[in-house]
Amino acid sequence: MEYEAIIGLETHVQLKTKSKIWCGCANEFGAPPNTNVCPVCLGMPGVLPVANEEALRLTILTGLLLNSTIPRYAKFDRKNYFYPDMPKNYQVTQFDKPSTVGGFVEFEFNGGTSRINLTRAHLEEDVGKNFHFDRNSGVDFNRAGVPLLEIISEPEITSSDMAYEYLNALKDILIYGGVSDCDMEKGMVRCDVNVSIRPKGQKELGKKIEIKNMNSFSGVRNALNYEIPRQIEVLTKGGQHHQETRRWDDVGGITETMRSKEMAHDYRYFPEPDLMPFEPTDAWLAEIKTRVVELPLAKKQRFIKDYQLPPADAQAFVWDVPLGSYFESVAKKSKNPKAVANWVINNLRAKLAENGGSLADLKFKPEHLVELIELVDGKKISSAAAQQVFAEMFTSGEAPALIVEKKGLAQVSDTGAIEKFCDEVIAANPKPSADFKAGNAGALNFLKGQVMKLSKGKANPGVVGEILEKKLKS
Ligand code: ZN
Ligand code: MN
Repeated sequence: MEYEAIIGLETHVQLKTKSKIWCGCANEFGAPPNTNVCPVCLGMPGVLPVANEEALRLTILTGLLLNSTIPRYAKFDRKNYFYPDMPKNYQVTQFDKPSTVGGFVEFEFNGGTSRINLTRAHLEEDVGKNFHFDRNSGVDFNRAGVPLLEIISEPEITSSDMAYEYLNALKDILIYGGVSDCDMEKGMVRCDVNVSIRPKGQKELGKKIEIKNMNSFSGVRNALNYEIPRQIEVLTKGGQHHQETRRWDDVGGITETMRSKEMAHDYRYFPEPDLMPFEPTDAWLAEIKTRVVELPLAKKQRFIKDYQLPPADAQAFVWDVPLGSYFESVAKKSKNPKAVANWVINNLRAKLAENGGSLADLKFKPEHLVELIELVDGKKISSAAAQQVFAEMFTSGEAPALIVEKKGLAQVSDTGAIEKFCDEVIAANPKPSADFKAGNAGALNFLKGQVMKLSKGKANPGVVGEILEKKLKS
């Protein structure tokens, strides 16, 4: 029998706020243990939380970026459990009325575009972090109370590679939207996996098994690459699955039972009495809408379509946002956007890296780059000369036409002048000339190079080739 895997992902993302969600402590990674703490985030009795508006804004912004519906009524709930990283013995989260509902993530996969729908995203507080030493353990509460968004996908992912691409796309969107830095090494993104197996063609889902403890997206992919065949093997051998939570062992490369359904938590959710329900107004939503940016995939596809860019160039502009905007400002003025992309990626970016400096204080104007490309396309200067013009333009900010004139870089297409150079080169190089006549095609390139040298790079290489060939073949 053929089986298929059905995967759903629960992704926790730390929101990029200055302070924590219910108190004024800094939301900052890497501070000495328990230095960004106060009675509120330490869960002392009697303290009252005050919601961080920016965390609420970023939650809604995320919903808008992910095409979700933003309910006009959301509320907070207490999820009760006992664990040392959560001294209140409950986590404030959103249970039945989350801040965003539905939505989807689109990404490139298998040569096409895949869409995975989302169930919801809810806002909650992060908890502390346990550290285990040789003889004792400790808890660092710096992370407790950091705003955390839990983004839940529908069970629509069908392979480990697809899960991996979904996660990367989600991360790209969140970074692009300014919602989270998504630094995995700093624990800003954490992901749990639900996976079940069913015979291909069957409608109802198999028994759901949860996997925890992956600390990277490739860890998620590896865990699935282990877990899916394992589950299929159990079924093939006539066994059955029970709902359970398994732990991924990154070193051993296996999953192991962590807890079974019998031990599943009853979180006894109830409404958080110390926080107001959250009811975003029209004005709020309108203000947050102004923060929505074009998504990375949409931008990439637009650059490919509007400017005929190769996907790799489009991707380069998606990831270097200032460079991408600069490219676009020049490309809009040019008849040859592909050449603009080449100059910006291959020359401008290198020059900036070499000389420091930024796009904001470039000496030359976008029009100058447009003009330079027109000079090349109109065969007024050779591409070798264009490099010189660009270098000069970069340092002095002078117009390309002026530089061409000053440095005498105008390309010679005048056949009379080129013929003279060719005659001279043929006379000075009897051996390569004879080689070419004898059928060694490579010898022509050498002669061509000599003519270019003689013309100080100004001869039109195409014309040089034609004339040389004509002369040697006659
Ligand atoms: Zn605090
Ligand atoms: Mn959660």
